[in-house]
Amino acid sequence: MTQAPLQSTPLALIGAGHTHLVGLRRWRDRGFRPPAGSVLINPDPEAWYSGMMPGLLAGRYQPEDCAIALEPLCANLGIELVIGQLAELNADQRLLRLDDGRQYQAELLSLNIGSSPACLLQDGSLPVIPVKPFATLYRQWRLWRDGHAPVNLALAGAGPAAFELALALQASLPNSRISLIGSTPLLARHPSTLQRRALRLLHERGIDYQLDQLTGIRQGRLLLASGIELEGFDALVLATGAQPHACQQTSGLRCDPLGFIAVDSCLRSLSHSAILASGDCAKVPDSHHCGVHAVRQGQTLADNLQALLCQQPLQRYQPQSRTLALLDTSDGRALLSYGPLAAAGRWARWWKTWLDTRFISHHRIQ
Ligand SMILES: Cc1cc2nc3c(=O)[nH]c(=O)nc-3n(C[C@H](O)[C@H](O)[C@H](O)COP(=O)(O)OP(=O)(O)OC[C@H]3O[C@@H](n4cnc5c(N)ncnc54)[C@H](O)[C@@H]3O)c2cc1C
Repeated sequence: MTQAPLQSTPLALIGAGHTHLVGLRRWRDRGFRPPAGSVLINPDPEAWYSGMMPGLLAGRYQPEDCAIALEPLCANLGIELVIGQLAELNADQRLLRLDDGRQYQAELLSLNIGSSPACLLQDGSLPVIPVKPFATLYRQWRLWRDGHAPVNLALAGAGPAAFELALALQASLPNSRISLIGSTPLLARHPSTLQRRALRLLHERGIDYQLDQLTGIRQGRLLLASGIELEGFDALVLATGAQPHACQQTSGLRCDPLGFIAVDSCLRSLSHSAILASGDCAKVPDSHHCGVHAVRQGQTLADNLQALLCQQPLQRYQPQSRTLALLDTSDGRALLSYGPLAAAGRWARWWKTWLDTRFISHHRIQ
C-alpha cells in the first residue's frame, strides 16, 4: 500500500468541539484569518451541540436544529475542512495520521476532540450504544422510534447527560421500560435538593435508579460491582463519565493520571509548547469536563492561538467557580442548579431553550 504524502500546515485544529466553534466564531467577529493552509480536522461535516441532544431524542428538535455545518464557517476564515479522524499523533514532531492514512505535519496544533464514555468489558451479547458520537446514538434512536423500540433499555451513568437522556428516551419511547444504573449518587455534583427532586422525577416517570457500578456484560447479563447480575435487557446506552481518546494517550503529550492532556492556564500543553488542548480532552486547571467550561475556554483559545501565530504574549483562562446547569426533564420543564442553588420550572426550560438556540444561531454561518 502506498503511503499518503505528508502535507505541511501552519495550524491544525483537531476536532470541531465546542471550544473550537467558539474560537472560530471569535476570529470571524474580529476579522482575524489564520495563515493560508490551516486545517480543521473532524470526522463529520457538522458539529453537534450536546445541550440539545436530550431535546432531539425527546422529539422536540430536528437534527438540523442541533448541528452546525462546518464548511461555511471554515470557508469564511479560509480554513480547509478535512473530514477525517485523528488516529495517531506524534507530539514531538507534531505529526498527525488520520484513520484513512492521510498525514499532516503542523507548526501549531490545537486539540479539541472531546471524550468518550468509559469502556466496558463485554462479550458482544448485548447492543451497547455510547452517547458519543452523537450521530450513532441518533441513528439508533430513530430505529427504536420507528418501531423497533427495546422492551427493556438500560442506561449507565449518574451525571446530567444520563439523567436527561433517561427522561428523553422515556418520553419518546413510551413502551420501553428504562433503567438507570449509576456508580455514584445521581447528580452527585449538584445540590442535594436537586438530587432529591431528580430522583423523585425518575420515580414518577417509572425509571428505576440503581446505585451500583456496571462492570461488564456477559451472556446478555449486566454485571454489577456488588455481584448482582441483571438480565432481560435488550440494549444498553453508555453515558458514563468522560474517558480520553486513545490517540492522545500514545502521543507523547504529558497527560494527567487519567489520560487527559495536561495544559497550563493558557491551555498550552505542559510538555509541548506548540500544542494546545481544550474542552473534555484536556485537564485544564480548576475546570471540570462539561460543555459549559468547554464553551468558556473558546475565547482564550482563539486569542492564544492568534497570539502564538503573531508572536504575542498569551492570556490566562480564568474559569468561573460556579457553573450554571439547566437539565431538560422532557416534560416542558427543566431543573436548574448554580452553586448551592437549585430550582425547577417551565421558566427554566424556556431559559435553556433560549440559551441553546442562541448558541446555534450565533455559530451558524449561512
Ligand atoms: C446527552 C448529553 C448532554 C449534555 N448536556 C450538557 C449540558 O447541558 N451542559 C454541559 O455543560 N455539558 C453537557 N454535556 C457534556 C458536553 O457534551 C461535553 O462536556 C462537551 O461536549 C465537551 O465539549 P468539547 O469541546 O470538549 O468537545 P465535543 O463537543 O465533545 O466535540 C469533540 C469533537 O471532536 C470530534 N472528534 C472526536 N474524536 C476525534 C478524532 N480522533 N479526530 C478528530 N476529531 C475528533 C468529535 O466528532 C466532535 O466533533 C452533555 C453531554 C451529553 C452526552
